[in-house]
Amino acid sequence: MLEHDIIIVGGGLAGCRAAVEIARTDPNLNVALVAKTHPIRSHSVAAQGGIAATLKNVDSADSWEAHAFDTVKGSDYLADQDAVEILAREAPDVVIDLEHMGVLFSRLPDGRIAQRAFGGHSHNRTCYAADKTGHAILHELVNNLRRYGVQIYDEWYVMRLILEDGGAKGVVMYRILDGELVVVRAKAVMFATGGYGRVYNTTSNDYASTGDGLAMTAIAGLPLEDMEFVQFHPTGLYPVGVLISEAVRGEGAYLINSEGDRFMANYAPSRMELAPRDITSRAIAQEILAGRGIHPDGSAGGSFVHLDLRHMGKEKIMSRVPFCWEEAHRLVSIDAVHQPIPVRPTVHYSMGGIPVNIDGQVRSGLDSLIDGFFAAGECACVSVHGANRLGSNSLLECVVYGRKTGAFIAQFVQNRKHPVVDEQRYLTEAQQQIQALLEQPGQYRIAQVRDAFQDCMTKHCGVFRTPELMREGLEQLQKLQQQYQQIYLDDQGSCWNTELIEALELRSLIIVGQLILTSALNRLESRGSHFREDYAQRDDTNFLKHTMAYYSPAGIDLQYRPVNITLFEPQERKY
Ligand SMILES: Cc1cc2nc3c(=O)[nH]c(=O)nc-3n(C[C@H](O)[C@H](O)[C@H](O)COP(=O)(O)OP(=O)(O)OC[C@H]3O[C@@H](n4cnc5c(N)ncnc54)[C@H](O)[C@@H]3O)c2cc1C
Repeated sequence: MLEHDIIIVGGGLAGCRAAVEIARTDPNLNVALVAKTHPIRSHSVAAQGGIAATLKNVDSADSWEAHAFDTVKGSDYLADQDAVEILAREAPDVVIDLEHMGVLFSRLPDGRIAQRAFGGHSHNRTCYAADKTGHAILHELVNNLRRYGVQIYDEWYVMRLILEDGGAKGVVMYRILDGELVVVRAKAVMFATGGYGRVYNTTSNDYASTGDGLAMTAIAGLPLEDMEFVQFHPTGLYPVGVLISEAVRGEGAYLINSEGDRFMANYAPSRMELAPRDITSRAIAQEILAGRGIHPDGSAGGSFVHLDLRHMGKEKIMSRVPFCWEEAHRLVSIDAVHQPIPVRPTVHYSMGGIPVNIDGQVRSGLDSLIDGFFAAGECACVSVHGANRLGSNSLLECVVYGRKTGAFIAQFVQNRKHPVVDEQRYLTEAQQQIQALLEQPGQYRIAQVRDAFQDCMTKHCGVFRTPELMREGLEQLQKLQQQYQQIYLDDQGSCWNTELIEALELRSLIIVGQLILTSALNRLESRGSHFREDYAQRDDTNFLKHTMAYYSPAGIDLQYRPVNITLFEPQERKY
């Protein structure tokens, strides 16, 4: 059995920032970080547009209060405001700290960090490194992990959270290289496992965003919060779904329908293309439904709209958003200097996740915490994004709450003993789980079940939701769950068996899908990204509360937790 003081699962921004903080706070602690990819291949590396902080380098009238207000309004008043206050207040400090670690931000002519406009933000406060911000930050954080001597297990798949007697005791992990199974015991376990974009068939997320951490938490009997809130990013490149960053609109690009109109004037006249993502995605979906989408031959009635950068000019496009130009050019042969880019909404971000308090401690119920278990980043729900996240607030959340959770864990483990773990029991159970998958005489291919699942979620729990669609979706998921018991694997080997990993990931996806659909079906209102045709209005009287969904193979049980309102009373949300 391996032993560390702290084991962090996830090598993206949240996991790496927590590890650095622990190592800085107490260099004597034995910290390990495990990831199923190499850490610098975590999805964080793909983040493009930037990280919000009121540095006031461009806009001296900005303030943390304005940032907090924009975030709470963007969240459709579901965010917990104590958590938002910390996010906005600590933002300038964490960005300067990143700069000191070596992150190469884009600059103003006078040398200070440049800042640009972003959707839903009332001031120009998004700091960036061209349109490769995640790349710039993650590489520097991983360098710092090495400097501080954090042990890295890369390309290990964590299969199980060990939770006993009300406390987390470690994890069971599988080395993808050779199939070795290992039990790790630790005084504290932290999940920073990222999002679940692969639940849907069109997503900006990487292949590893399969919601494993969420599923492991749910299987262990702990609740997941606000799973119905799935963010659709307005500008996924058609047809592939990869992201064309909001920074492109921040720098001035237009959204145009088949009639040549900047249609956002009809949906959010004061913010136009820089309205929050829920509103902009619904507007695009609405235009397409109304027959004002565009076909590849340019005629009306198709399934995308145009993102037009041409008026920005070549120099601005190439200096501020070069990666987006390159993506459109490489993937769909569009030269955005001379042609508009075809876009439509794509699944992008999970607002919900593992419920945590402001120290990153995981909640086991409405008023209780689980001992020794922590989470931060996209897999967690603290909740700073409520029902809809603003762009450039997620990298910020990872860094602010990664740091805060790391600092808390460094104190938490002091004078704690290692837990007692029955290594053999966990090894045997993991071995049996793998053996069953390898040997089951099934009739379905993994891809068959996964494709059907992703199509089901896309059709039954998309931008516009109805109870009939969602009920049908849940019934289909039950059938897919049964089909999952009958998948077969060609690869029986232990060396780099990616088929086995895909089978384990598919289990995570299906559990997460069930939690999303059940939570959505039971929220009888429209708020942020969750839009129901039968309840088109927000209902603060009955639903100004967080969903807490408890999974078991027999069914999902829902409870609700009040929203923490400390700064701003809910108002009608208009842009
Ligand atoms: C294309 C794109 C662009 C974006 N641009 C921006 C932006 O400009 N600004 C912004 O604020 N936000 C942006 N976001 C959102 C933001 O990047 C993410 O929310 C954030 O980076 C998530 O970081 P994380 O540390 O929580 O998880 P991730 O970076 O997703 O890392 C998850 C880690 O967990 C590991 N892991 C998962 N499951 C397991 C397992 N079973 N076993 C072992 N390891 C596991 C993975 O290997 C990985 O290391 C963007 C997102 C995308 C997809």
